[in-house]
Amino acid sequence: MKVAVRTLCEFAAREGDLDFRYTPAPSAEEGITGHQAIQARRGCGYKREYALSGECQELRLSGRADGYDPHAGLLEEIKTHRGDLSRIRPHLRALHRAQLRAYGALLCRQENRPTLQLSVVYVDIGTHRETPITETASAADLWQELEVLCGRYRLWAEQQAHHREQRDLRLAGLRFPFARFRPRQRQLAETVYKNTVTGGTLLLEAPTGLGKTLGTLFPALMAMPKAGVDLLCYLTCRNTARQLALDAVERLRAAQDAPHIWPLRTLELVSKADACVHPDKACHGDACPLAKGFFDRLPDARAEAAQTGGPLTQAALARIAAGHDICPYFLAQEMARWCDLVVGDVNRMFDQSALLYGLTRQNDWHTAVLVDEAHNLVDRGRGMYSVQLDQQRLLQVRKTAPRALKSPLDRTVRAWQGVIRAHTHAEGAPVLLDTLPVALMGSLQGLVSALTEFLTDHPPELALQELLFEAVAFMKLADTFGDHSLCEFRRPGRGRASLAIQNLLPADFLRERFSAAASVLLFSATLSPGPYFQDLLGLPADTRVRSLPSPFSADQLRVHFTPTISTRQAHREASVAPIAELIARQYRQRPGHYLAFFSSFRYLNAVDNALGELAPDIPRRSQHPGMSSQQRRDFLAGFQDRTGSVAFAVLGGVFSEGIDLPGNQLIGAFVATLGLPPFDAWHEVLRQRLQQRFGAGYDYAYRIPGLQKVAQAAGRVIRTPDDRGVIWLIDDRFLQPPVRARLPDWWFGPEAAH
Ligand code: SF4
Repeated sequence: MKVAVRTLCEFAAREGDLDFRYTPAPSAEEGITGHQAIQARRGCGYKREYALSGECQELRLSGRADGYDPHAGLLEEIKTHRGDLSRIRPHLRALHRAQLRAYGALLCRQENRPTLQLSVVYVDIGTHRETPITETASAADLWQELEVLCGRYRLWAEQQAHHREQRDLRLAGLRFPFARFRPRQRQLAETVYKNTVTGGTLLLEAPTGLGKTLGTLFPALMAMPKAGVDLLCYLTCRNTARQLALDAVERLRAAQDAPHIWPLRTLELVSKADACVHPDKACHGDACPLAKGFFDRLPDARAEAAQTGGPLTQAALARIAAGHDICPYFLAQEMARWCDLVVGDVNRMFDQSALLYGLTRQNDWHTAVLVDEAHNLVDRGRGMYSVQLDQQRLLQVRKTAPRALKSPLDRTVRAWQGVIRAHTHAEGAPVLLDTLPVALMGSLQGLVSALTEFLTDHPPELALQELLFEAVAFMKLADTFGDHSLCEFRRPGRGRASLAIQNLLPADFLRERFSAAASVLLFSATLSPGPYFQDLLGLPADTRVRSLPSPFSADQLRVHFTPTISTRQAHREASVAPIAELIARQYRQRPGHYLAFFSSFRYLNAVDNALGELAPDIPRRSQHPGMSSQQRRDFLAGFQDRTGSVAFAVLGGVFSEGIDLPGNQLIGAFVATLGLPPFDAWHEVLRQRLQQRFGAGYDYAYRIPGLQKVAQAAGRVIRTPDDRGVIWLIDDRFLQPPVRARLPDWWFGPEAAH
């Protein structure tokens, strides 16, 4: 059995508290440069990246020590840091030492040395100053320690290998849980199976009604043994979709022979906010009791989690963690290393500190990725690489800040005033800046250092920590600021200025995430045109694009156009009465439940009122801004009333996608907008940047995102093969060829297909 020394130590040599206090760490490039600088300082005969291997407790170990001086009998491990050395946490120091001693054991055995000098060399990346921590060790002691580590790991590794064997056996013969596939579902399953086995990236437009959750999970799981997949990630954009995936796995399990023996470890990853037991505390042993001694109690909790037969859902992990007095959130992070299927939010693979991406790279895993409702990934990706800095938080903190922080806080406050003075003409309107304000960036850097130093020596204080995290997050994206992003300054009132780095083109960040995966399947009912997603998400050049035919036929749906109504801003007022008349006419012709979508609450209210006056007998209800979850549930419950109704909603809002209203719950939709985003300064910059990069500014910034929303919203009408419904596309522009060409083909039947 092969294992890297680093993996061995991370598994078997960690001990003590969990500690997620911020320590300023060098970037990966700085770390490499630091290593090279130190290695270059050593004399001739010094061996860099010295390869070591050996066998211990039937494990074949390998790795590379940073440097070896054979004449001096000195083995070195170089670790870069920034600032005060005492900030490196004890559990990390212990891990560094354990790793070096493991290399030492291998070296003594390899070169027959009775003793060896060992040195962890800490290098300050700012000054390149070295602080070596040196010891002399005997070969016997080192080997004995290595045997203990290998003994711990071997038991686990054997159990893992057995688990993998059982898992693959079961998955290769996986049985579909229903007697037959839904129409087109087999085609979907075959496509997914093939993509997982052959690898690469596939953009798959798979219409509603195919049973996509099971239709993708079943073949992807089945392909795991053949494709040698270590980890399958099922990623969603909404929490409710996560539950659907977990339900599908449960249905699969229940349909197999001997379902009580189910060798597939499924992990549900939830957000820290959802899993944390002590939200008022910080994640380190001095503040949170569940972080204290975390690594000492982790092995037992991990073993229990691995042995439990059922899925490691949020509830199951909370129960196991509570039994061992450790943090459930970080137990879930640990279990991500040892599970076969992870169900979680898309940010777990794609955001700045994505866990699944990190594990895939670190372990060289063969990871297969499925992304549900992938049309949302453009906007979600933008959000993952955007950040905001608030003046208000800084001013609040300064009021009660300790003396030691006064000067860096004052400097930052003055820098903010400089930014505000430079944009006094803005008067509340957003200002888009080409570059980041230099003086503010400089003072933020100083503030980050001062806050870090202060928090190292003092008890944690939530307000200071939050300010530090906000500043660090901002600086991190500021370092990579480029034409993929813009900087927006706002000042809605005195003391309430904000500066945001807003990502426009997530491709520049997501590209390397996609390249880490062995296979990627992005699927949704609205994923065209393919080049739009390829360009904006940074998908590989050899990405395949496929579109599955809808299981529904055009005779289930009647699509109407309104050549004489325009919803353009200038014609909006005049359009209110004709739209109300049209809705009333349709309702009288076929009473039932309808959804009517508009571009704004104002427009929606105007038509709602007009319909009320024209046809007071037609039941109506409206979405309004900031609805609570109970209000949303009530709104949706209205679709189950026996009498029909017209429900007004805004396009792109919570009721325009992700809701399922089969049968008579919804028999028609009116869409009184092309869904175009506002023609404001922000979207104009977006259009220009996308024009420069891809030559498709208007399409990529306006038309395609707008029509995707239309297709999503209107797609609520037909959810099953028995549904019959009507869609009214209310605007003369829907008849223009470039617009109509972007609407789903099946709406119009084969003779009208474009
Ligand atoms: S329980 Fe909460 S505060 Fe404590 S370690 Fe876990 S996430 Fe951090």
